[in-house]
Amino acid sequence: MHRLSEQDLALQGAARRLADELVPHEVAVELAGGDVPLELAARHRARARELGLVATNIPVADGGRGATTLQQVLVQEQGGRVTNALAWVMATPPGWLPAVATPHQRERWLVPTVRGDAVECYAITEEQAGSDVADLSATARRDGDHYVLDGEKWHVTSFNEATYAFFQARLVGGEHNGEHAMFFVDLPSPGVRVVRTPAYSHSIGHHHPIVAFEDVHVPVENLVGAEGDGMTFAHEWFRFERLMVAARCLGAAERLVEDTTAFAAERVVGGRPLIDYQLVAAMLADSVTELLAARTLVYAVARAIDDGADRKVAHAQCSMAKLYASEMAGRVADRAVQVFGGRGYMRENVAERFYRELRVERIWEGASEVQRVIIARQLARRGLAALA
Ligand SMILES: Cc1cc2nc3c(=O)[nH]c(=O)nc-3n(C[C@H](O)[C@H](O)[C@H](O)COP(=O)(O)OP(=O)(O)OC[C@H]3O[C@@H](n4cnc5c(N)ncnc54)[C@H](O)[C@@H]3O)c2cc1C
Repeated sequence: MHRLSEQDLALQGAARRLADELVPHEVAVELAGGDVPLELAARHRARARELGLVATNIPVADGGRGATTLQQVLVQEQGGRVTNALAWVMATPPGWLPAVATPHQRERWLVPTVRGDAVECYAITEEQAGSDVADLSATARRDGDHYVLDGEKWHVTSFNEATYAFFQARLVGGEHNGEHAMFFVDLPSPGVRVVRTPAYSHSIGHHHPIVAFEDVHVPVENLVGAEGDGMTFAHEWFRFERLMVAARCLGAAERLVEDTTAFAAERVVGGRPLIDYQLVAAMLADSVTELLAARTLVYAVARAIDDGADRKVAHAQCSMAKLYASEMAGRVADRAVQVFGGRGYMRENVAERFYRELRVERIWEGASEVQRVIIARQLARRGLAALA
C-alpha cells in the first residue's frame, strides 16, 4: 500500500482525535433518541472547526480546507468510527457549488455554509421518485422574476437543522420544459411545511421529514446554474458522496473489528477466551480481511481521482467503492453482534447501534442494486481495463 504523506497523516490524526472525543457521548445520545444537548452540539461543531475538519472538500479560495480526495476519505473514515451521527460535525458542504454559484449565491449561501453559519438540506427524493431520481413530479414554473415551486419531498435529511434547502424539480413551460432545475429555498419560507416526521431505524439528531412545498415563490437568482442543469449537480454529488459513504463504512468496520476483537480476547466461555474458539476467530478473520480489501479499494479510487481519472470511470469506481464497502460493513456489523452475543443486542453496545445504522448505507445515495447497474453499464461501455 502507498504511504500517506505528512499532511495526510496530520489530517487523519486530527479527525481521529475528534472521533475519540465524540465516542464517549454515543450511549447517552442513543438513549435520548438521538438528541444532542444544544450546548454539547455547539462544542462539537467548534472543535471540528478548530481542528480544520469542516469543509475539507471546498477549495481554499472559497474558505474550505482544499483537501485532496484521499484526505477527505481519511477524515470521513475517522468520522465513520462514531455512531449516532455525532461525527456529522465534520461537515462537507456541496462541493459542486463553488464552480456554479453566482456572486450573489456565493455571498448568501456558499460562504456562510462553509463558515458553519448556514446549513443545507437536500429536497430531491419523492414518494414515487427515489432510485429513479429523473422521475420527479415536483414542478418549477417561471413567473416574471420568480419561480413558483410545488412538490412533496421525502427523507429530507437535516431539515430540522437547515437554514436552506436545495429543491429539485421539473420545469414547466419555457425552453427547457420537462428538464430538471435546482433552486435555493430559504428556510423557513412561506409555503414550506413539514407533513410529518417519521421515525427511522437509527437514533440521530438529524430528522428526515416529508416536506411539502406549496406555491413557494423564489427569485430567479435562486436558480442553481442554468435551467436543465438539475441532474448534473445530482450526479456530481452522488460521485462525491458515494465515496464518502464508503469511507465512513471503513471507519465503522474498523471500530467494530477493534471492539469485537478486544471483547473476544477478554470474554471467557467454558474456561477459554472466545477468540480461542475457531468459529469465533473465523468471524474476526473474515471481517478484518474484508476491511483491508475495502480500504485498499477506497483509497485506490480516491488516489485515482486525485490523479485526474476520467469522470465516467471515476463515477463507476465510486459506485464500486460504495457497493463493496457498504456491503462489507453490513457483514462486519452482523458478525460483531454475533460475537458480542446478548450484549450485542443491547442499545448501549456499539455493534447493536452500527447494525441498525449501517443498513441505510446500502440504500441511500443509490441502493446496492443501482450501483451494480452503474458499474455493469460502464463495464460494457468502457471495458474491463478502464474499470479494474
Ligand atoms: C435515512 C435516509 C435519509 C435520506 N436522505 C435524503 C435526503 O436528504 N435527500 C433526498 O433527496 N433523499 C434522501 N433519501 C432518499 C434516498 O436517496 C432514497 O431512499 C434512495 O435513493 C432509494 O430510493 P427509494 O427509497 O425511493 O427506493 P426505490 O426507488 O423505491 O427502490 C426500492 C428498492 O428497489 C431496488 N431497485 C431500485 N431500482 C433498481 C434498479 N434499477 N435495478 C434493480 N433494483 C432496483 C433496490 O433494492 C431499492 O432499494 C434518504 C433516505 C433515507 C432512508
